This record gives sequence, C-alpha cells and structure tokens, in this order.
Amino acid sequence: MSVRLRPALAELAAYRPGRNAADLARELGVPSAVKLASNESAYGPLPSVRAVIAAAAAEVNRYPDNGSSELTAALAAHCGVSPDRVAVGCGSVGLYQQLIAALAGPGDEVVYGWRSFEVYPSFVAITGATGVPVPLCDHTYDLPAIARAVTGRTRMICVCNPNNPTGTAVGRAAIATLLDSVPDEVLVVIDEAYHEYVTDQSVPDAMSFAAQRDNVAVLRTMSKAYGLAGLRIGYCIAAPTVIGALRQVQLPFTVSSVAQAAALASLVATDELHERVMATVAERARVLAALRALGVTIPDSEANFFWLPIGACALPFAAACERAGVIVRPFAGDGVRVTVGTPADNDRFLAVATPLLRR
Ligand code: PMP
Repeated sequence: MSVRLRPALAELAAYRPGRNAADLARELGVPSAVKLASNESAYGPLPSVRAVIAAAAAEVNRYPDNGSSELTAALAAHCGVSPDRVAVGCGSVGLYQQLIAALAGPGDEVVYGWRSFEVYPSFVAITGATGVPVPLCDHTYDLPAIARAVTGRTRMICVCNPNNPTGTAVGRAAIATLLDSVPDEVLVVIDEAYHEYVTDQSVPDAMSFAAQRDNVAVLRTMSKAYGLAGLRIGYCIAAPTVIGALRQVQLPFTVSSVAQAAALASLVATDELHERVMATVAERARVLAALRALGVTIPDSEANFFWLPIGACALPFAAACERAGVIVRPFAGDGVRVTVGTPADNDRFLAVATPLLRR
C-alpha cells in the first residue's frame, strides 16, 4: 500500500525547466553549451549589484525581514503606488501561486491564453480549480475570446504580456476593452515578466490599470532583465485587499535577505539596466532579421526571446541544436522558443539554425 495522494495530482506533470549545459555534457558529451532555453539574462546581475549580494551573503545566519519592508517601500516609490499595494514574493511564480491559493478552489475557473506560460494550468490544477485555456490568435492573446470565456465561476484571468513563449504583446486599447467587460469580482492578472524589453509604444505599462481598478494585479520579476533569476524575487502590484490576501497565504520568510538587498540595489541601477536591455533589444532585431531572411515566419517579439512556429519539426530541431551545443526550448508539435543571448551566443545559434531552417 502506498500513501494516498490528492487525485488532482494524477494528471499533473511536474514543471520541466529548460535543460542546462551540465545536462548536455552528461547526456550527450557536448563539452561547452550555450543555454538559450530559459529566458534568463546572459549577463549576470547588474554590475553595481554584485558587491551588494556578496555583502548580504555574510549575514544569512539571520532570518530575512518577513515583510520585505524596505524593498516594499522602494518598489512602491518605483511604481508610483502606496506600499499597501505592493507584495514581494519568491519569484513572480511564487506570487502567482499565492494568487491562485487566495482566489480559486474546486468549482472555480481560471481563464488564460494558450499556449502561454506553462505554470498557469499546473497551479490551477493543484488547487482543484478548472483551467480554461483560450487559444491564441496569430500567436497572440485573443482578448475578445478571453472575455467570452468568462462565466459566473471565473475567479481569475491571466494575461501574459508579452506572452511566453510566443513573445507577442497586446496593446493598451485591447486590454482596456477586456477590463471593461470583466465583472469587478474577477481578478485580471497581467503578467509582465518581460516588460522591460517592450519597445512597441502601444503596449501598456499595466501599472496604470492597477492604479485605477481594484480587480487588476500586475506581476513583475527581477529574474529577467535584472539578472537575478537565481535569487528568486518578483513583485505584485494590486489593490490592498488582494495584497492582504497574498500576505495571508505567503510562506514565512519566502524572500531571502540576499534577494531583498539585491533587488533594492537593482532598482537604483537604472543606467546599467537600460544599457543591458538595449543590447538585448538590438540583438533581438538582428537575429530576427537574419532568420526572416531565410524565409522563416517569426511573430514580432517584445521580449528577450522569440518563437519559431515550426510545428512537428520542434523536437528534431531542438535535438539538432543540442547536439551542436545550443540549448533551446521545444514544445512538441508546436514550436521552439529561443532566448536572445550575447552576440556570441546568438551567432552560435544562427550558425546551427541556418542550415536547419533555410527554405
Ligand atoms: N511569468 C512568465 C511569463 C515567465 O515566463 C516567467 C519565467 N519563466 C515567470 C513569470 C516567472 O519568473 P520568476 O518566478 O523567476 O519571477
């Protein structure tokens, strides 16, 4: 006899992170690989933040500030809201999990676009709520279809903007129309994990919606543009009631003291952030132009990655890249997501991909 697990787990696949260079060395004997599979920054923490991380590491014998009070105040100032509208969490996935725990249970529905961030359906399933995936249109969130999918059971809607894995983004007017159509009791979560990379002026900063409406929550992360993925820190901007609920379901001490110190220092390193983001945006344009010149169809990307909608070729393409020491992220039968790395990483990807993708 074995222990009895909750039935909700029966259908649930564990989160599958992108493979890393050590996996390739072990499994394929590839000595040095570049990882373009997890949308991380290729550049490490911002330069001025490294010493802050080292100094904070000397004090990890103490528990962190459970309320992240200094960081919460700094984020509130950064986002132009009051501190009771800010929650800090163990990455933005941690905050997403807290939101689900606070809002949804068996019998409730959570609506999201699909394909989108893989964590959306799995956390919904863990709570016993029902996920309602709404197909993308042209690789882009279809907000009118999402509005039509809302029922009396809907508790939460997720809009991933820009969307992982397709890189596409929806504009200000489309989001405003969605928000106008959604009942006040339904929380609309706008996941802006890649917001810093957005260059299209029609794509909003969702903070403006959260400031006006009590049923909007914005998720942001320090994992991508700020280069702190390994420290696990993200934040949520929402109405005080939602923030209060997030605090109720939070695991104690979930944000480490090193992460809090690093995030505080990162927020003031604006020039360093800008320089790095611009480098990635320039590389995004260069790599997309090179691939499109081959005849490959790629949706416009507002993120630090792009989507190759190559359907059944996804797995063989990714396997061929891995054999050549470039790790990308395939989604079987659908497409491949490729992170924009350093110029050298991207050249290595282009050298492998060009003969595979040429039409
Ligand atoms: N949202 C989206 C859309 C993402 O792609 C990711 C990272 N893959 C996250 C949230 C999670 O980021 P983190 O938990 O590191 O803040």
